[in-house]
Amino acid sequence: MSKSTKAEGRAFINGQYVNSMSGEVFASYSPIDGEFLTNIDACNEQDIHHAVLGARRSFESGVWSAMPLQERKNVLFKLADLIIEHEEELAVLETLDMGKPVSLCLESDIRGGAHAIRWFAECIDKLYDHMSPNHQGIGMITREPIGVVGAITPWNFPFYMAIWKVGSALAMGNSVVVKPSERASLTTIKLGELAHKAGVPEGVLQIVPGYGRVAGAALGRHSDVDCISFTGSHTTSRELMKYSSETNGKPVHIEAGGKTANIVFKDALNLEEAAQVSAQAIFYNMGEVCFAGSRLLLPDDEDFIETFLSKVKNYSEYWQPYNPLDMQSMAGALVDAAHLQRVENFVQGALDQGAQLFTGGKIKHPDSGGYYYEPTILTGVTPDMTIAQEEVFGPVLSVMTYQDEEDAIRIANGTDYGLASAIWTGDLNRAHRVSRAMKSGNVWVNCFHGGDMTMPFGGYKQSGNTRDKAFTGFEKYTQIKSTWIALGLRILVNVNAHSGAS
Ligand code: NAD
Repeated sequence: MSKSTKAEGRAFINGQYVNSMSGEVFASYSPIDGEFLTNIDACNEQDIHHAVLGARRSFESGVWSAMPLQERKNVLFKLADLIIEHEEELAVLETLDMGKPVSLCLESDIRGGAHAIRWFAECIDKLYDHMSPNHQGIGMITREPIGVVGAITPWNFPFYMAIWKVGSALAMGNSVVVKPSERASLTTIKLGELAHKAGVPEGVLQIVPGYGRVAGAALGRHSDVDCISFTGSHTTSRELMKYSSETNGKPVHIEAGGKTANIVFKDALNLEEAAQVSAQAIFYNMGEVCFAGSRLLLPDDEDFIETFLSKVKNYSEYWQPYNPLDMQSMAGALVDAAHLQRVENFVQGALDQGAQLFTGGKIKHPDSGGYYYEPTILTGVTPDMTIAQEEVFGPVLSVMTYQDEEDAIRIANGTDYGLASAIWTGDLNRAHRVSRAMKSGNVWVNCFHGGDMTMPFGGYKQSGNTRDKAFTGFEKYTQIKSTWIALGLRILVNVNAHSGAS
C-alpha cells in the first residue's frame, strides 16, 4: 500500500483541528524506516483544561447525552460506515505510525474497530433499566452516563483500544476526552474528525495528543473528569490512581499488561494446531500484545518438547518481519528504537540467567532505518527468571516445563499478572478443572484469544480492575441511580426501609 497518506498531528477539540496553546510539537518518525511522518501537538495542562471544559459543556447541554436513542445510534452507525470508507487511509496511517502489518491492521484494527462501534451502537436501545420487586413503592434503578470520561490509550493497538473506550462511552451518552499514546497518535486524531463528520456534536469527542507525564497527567488530575479509562502499563496505572486520590477521587478503570501462560498438555486434541497457534499467540503484532502467549508451558518430556518445539519453530518463520506495507507481510517493525533495545535487553538478560536460545535473537533489516526483531524462542526458562515474570512486549517466547497438572497451574499463576491463559487438552474434566484454577480474566481452551464482542475482556491482579467489551464494558461509563417513589403506604414503607444494610 502507498505511503502517500497525509498525517494530521493537531488536537481535535470542539469540532475542529487546533494547535496546542503553547505551540509546542514533537516529531513523529515511522518505525518502518525512520522517516519523518509529521509533527504532533505536545498538548499541556491548558489544552487538557480547554478540552475538558468543552466536554463538560457538551455533556450538560444534553446535545448528546439526551439525544433520542435511535438518533445517537444512527450517528455511531454512520461513524462505523465512515471508518470503513477510510479504511485504507487508516490502516496505512496505523502501519506507518507503529509498524504493524497493514493487512492485519485493515482486518483487525480498522474493520474490527468499525464492527465494535456497530456492536456498541446496537446495544443503545436494548439495554433496559430495572424496577425494584418491592411493591410498597416504585423503585426505579436507572442507568445514567457518568459525565466526562478521560480515556488514556496505549500504542500497540492505538485505534482499536481507542474504539473500545470511545465506542462504549459514547453509546452510553458520555462526553469523552482521549489522550492517545505519544508513540502512536495519528489514527486516534483521525477518529475525532470522522466522529464529528458522522454527527457526534462538537465537544463530545475531544482528542488531545501529548506526552503522558504532561497531557496524560493533566487529564488524570483534572477535577472535572468523572472517570479515567486507562489501557497501558501497570506502572502508569498506579500514577493515575495517585492523581485521582490527590484530586477528586474519580474511579480509575485499568486494563494493563499480561504474561499469558499457554499450557499444552500431552492429551491435546491436535498438537499440530496447538503448535501453529502457539506461534501466532506470541508473534502476532510482533508480540506487542497485552495477552501475548509469552510463556509456553510444556510437559517435562524431552521427546515431546523436541517434536512440539520444532513445529513451533517452523510456524515462527511465517512471522518473520519485513516491510509491513506489503500486503503479504505478517509482521512488521517494533514501535521505536527504545523498545527494540528493551526487547534485546530482555533476551540478553534471560541468556545471562541461564536460558538457551532455540531460534531468533537477532535484529533484522538493520540497514532499513526501522526496528525489526526476529521471532525468538528461549528454552530452559524457569519461573524465577526475569523473563518469566516481566512483560517483554516483543516477539520472544519463553518455553518452560512442568511436572504435572498441578505444577502447570502453579507456574501459570505464578506471576503478578492475570490477564489471560490458554489450555490445550482433549480431556473435558481437565479443561474445566484447569480453567477454574487459572487466576486470569480470560481463559481459552483449545484456542487462543477466542471470543468476540459478546465476551468481556480484562484481567485479574496487576492486569487490571475492569472489563471492556460486552455489556460489562458499559458499566464503568454509567452511574446507577435509585429512585424510590412512595405510594402512600407509610407504615409498611417505614418498617421495611431499614430492613437491609444501612
Ligand atoms: P504506558 O503505560 O507507557 O502508556 C499508556 C498511556 O499512558 C499513554 O497514552 C501514555 O502517554 C500515558 N501515560 C504515560 N505516563 C503517564 C502518566 N504519568 N500520567 C498519565 N498518563 C501517562 O503503556 P504503553 O507502553 O503505551 O502500552 C503498553 C502497555 O499497555 C503494556 O503493558 C500492555 O500490556 C498494555 N495493554 C493492555 C491492554 C489490555 O486491554 N489489558 C491492551 C493494550 C495494551
